[in-house]
Amino acid sequence: MSAARRPARAPYVRKAYWNEPAMGFWERAYLFEILRGLAITGGVFLRNMGKWVTGRKGALTTYYPEETRRDYARNNRGKHVLTQRPDGRPQCVACNMCATVCPAKVIEIEAGFDPADAEHPKYPVRFEIDYSRCVFCGLCVEACPEDAIRMDKTVPDLPSPDRLQMWLGKEELLAWKPERDVAKPYPPAPGGHEGTTP
Ligand code: SF4
Ligand code: SF4
Repeated sequence: MSAARRPARAPYVRKAYWNEPAMGFWERAYLFEILRGLAITGGVFLRNMGKWVTGRKGALTTYYPEETRRDYARNNRGKHVLTQRPDGRPQCVACNMCATVCPAKVIEIEAGFDPADAEHPKYPVRFEIDYSRCVFCGLCVEACPEDAIRMDKTVPDLPSPDRLQMWLGKEELLAWKPERDVAKPYPPAPGGHEGTTP
């Protein structure tokens, strides 16, 4: 189509938004707003400098892993804990819900079956978390129907040039900070199967 036959464009009409702020005199004057912006930026700089000089929180980036913060929040989601039954075995029933919900796909579980354990015949033979990819979202904790996995405030001290070193297994997750669900009773198994009585 030649330029001569092309239909004329509709004139551009600037859209007016219902919540468009109206500029006052000082905003339209421009210079005052620049000075106000410089004052805000300078104030933040001086505040941060003051915190840094007096050693208070929030001033500078922490150079992890060379430096670690001492002021993690009380409810920080850090290292995982696998809770134990009274005999020290995992409370986990290897249902795989945590591994399924994990957005980073970093939980690997190999399920085993113990017909002698009437309460929890299914258990994890292998339970591993790859901390090199965990995003500490806590969804695994939320998804667990057994309160078998928790997250402690403690930050795992794992930085390593070797990613394989950052896989933690069942034994460590069970033992590094032993925890139990005291509200969960384990009735004695017939024949006194080990560890089913609190
Ligand atoms: S904290 Fe999030 S990313 Fe880490 S293992 Fe749990 S669900 Fe996966
Ligand atoms: S930790 Fe909880 S959600 Fe994950 S496999 Fe064990 S019982 Fe299931």
